[in-house]
Amino acid sequence: MTATTTLSAITLRNFVGGRFVEADRAFEKRSPVDGALVAMVAEADRNTVDSAMRSARTALEGPWGRTGAGERAALLRRIADRIDARFDDLLAAEVSDTGKPLHLARGLDIARAAANFRAFADMMASAGIDSYLTEMPDGRRALNYALRKPVGIVGVIVPWNLPLLLLTWKVAPALACGNAVVVKPSEETPSSATVLAEIMAEAGVPEGVFNLVHGFGPDSAGEFITTHPDLDGITFTGESSTGSTIMRAAAPYVRPVSFELGGKNAALVFDDVDIDRAVDGLTRSIFTNTGQVCLCTERVYIQRPIFDEVVARLVDSAEALRLGRPEDEATTTGPLISTAHRQKVLSYLELARDEGARVVTGGGIPDLGSDLSGGAWIEPTLWTGLAHNARVMREEVFGPVAGLIPFDTEEEAIGLANDTKYGLAASVWTNDLERGHRVAGSMRVGISWVNNWFMRDLRSPFGGAGLSGIGREGGMHSLAFYTEPTNVCVTL
Ligand code: NAD
Repeated sequence: MTATTTLSAITLRNFVGGRFVEADRAFEKRSPVDGALVAMVAEADRNTVDSAMRSARTALEGPWGRTGAGERAALLRRIADRIDARFDDLLAAEVSDTGKPLHLARGLDIARAAANFRAFADMMASAGIDSYLTEMPDGRRALNYALRKPVGIVGVIVPWNLPLLLLTWKVAPALACGNAVVVKPSEETPSSATVLAEIMAEAGVPEGVFNLVHGFGPDSAGEFITTHPDLDGITFTGESSTGSTIMRAAAPYVRPVSFELGGKNAALVFDDVDIDRAVDGLTRSIFTNTGQVCLCTERVYIQRPIFDEVVARLVDSAEALRLGRPEDEATTTGPLISTAHRQKVLSYLELARDEGARVVTGGGIPDLGSDLSGGAWIEPTLWTGLAHNARVMREEVFGPVAGLIPFDTEEEAIGLANDTKYGLAASVWTNDLERGHRVAGSMRVGISWVNNWFMRDLRSPFGGAGLSGIGREGGMHSLAFYTEPTNVCVTL
């Protein structure tokens, strides 16, 4: 996809040391709605990443390195205010890159970006610190307290599914803790990050504290960041296999990593449930953002007495979804991010059929007319008839698809849900209070919902077990990752 172009055609540039900088190469960003050109994007080379690292180090060694928590909290609030002021620009940027419905980006992505900065401003301003009065057996006494210091230069690498939300989820606590960042958004979603760079300058973020580089992973900006000798830590959201590559890059330097990776999330639907509520929740959890949320459900286990009814109701709600242009208020579902990603999703649908699935709705490319034929559209798809250990029931597809499987007992359902190498999220649907707590607590995942999905409190831990990640972010967990404590021990 990389193309050579004249500099005048470049519309999205890298932001280094407080200014937008030119590049020798650029790549195309195309709309997943209809294939139209969205922007030419300047691709950061090794020198640009070097220069971003130097700017970040200079910022850390300058006044930014001496700011207090209150000052930084105030800065985060100014950024949030500028996000509100530039809401429409961010919305347009996000929607043109992803093709997601306007109302989804408005209510979720852009609103959460401002909320991320405000939440971490509040947390930083009120965060306490460990302190202990130490009494030794021989009668000596000391005061121990910890100082929270920034990690230094943090590389922030994020995916395309919730571009601004996930980027700000990491940048906000990193800046709250006094770090400098070198950020790389996905090559599929460069636009909202570029508007955010403008916002950083408008809000008065000092030069070099926020650097943005565009590009790909291997042999491009992603690799140049993660292998850079001057980097101090890496926070990454994306595929588990990419996490593994980045971990290898971090190993020689023993760098801290925080990983939010893939999932193969289960929903457990018990026969005591309010079926309307469960079907409504499952429809959102399978199809929101065209199934491209790491927390989306791809495995639904339904207790046998209500299996046929829930399947029929889910088919109805999948068929009621409206695929269409993002600006059309009736649209519920956008395209996948790219035709390349659609090829991957289609190959899983083919695999499902080969493995013996009965596709009960969807299964292919919809005909939405010639206007949209260049887009990455796919039908919302459900299947039954596959055993739990079929490959398509074990690997992450990352599309609007789910396999539906019956179960008999609670114990069996827990066993099936936990029988995965991933461990990101689960949802439990039941009207039995005790069962809800019991089953949700038995899930080997980072986040387990009862009778809801995707309800988040930014103070709570977020992350995954197994192939789904390393560490937790959110609230004090973020402050822990983005700081290095120094314990001071003073004899009294
Ligand atoms: P991806 O791993 O392909 O890419 C993510 C980012 O990493 C991109 O910016 C990409 O350019 C960069 N990258 C790729 N290879 C790299 C390398 N070798 N070195 C450095 N950087 C590299 O993921 P994606 O396709 O963009 O996103 C989808 C995946 O993200 C899914 O697996 C999804 O589950 C996961 N995800 C997880 C969470 C979570 O919170 N756990 C949230 C959203 C998405």
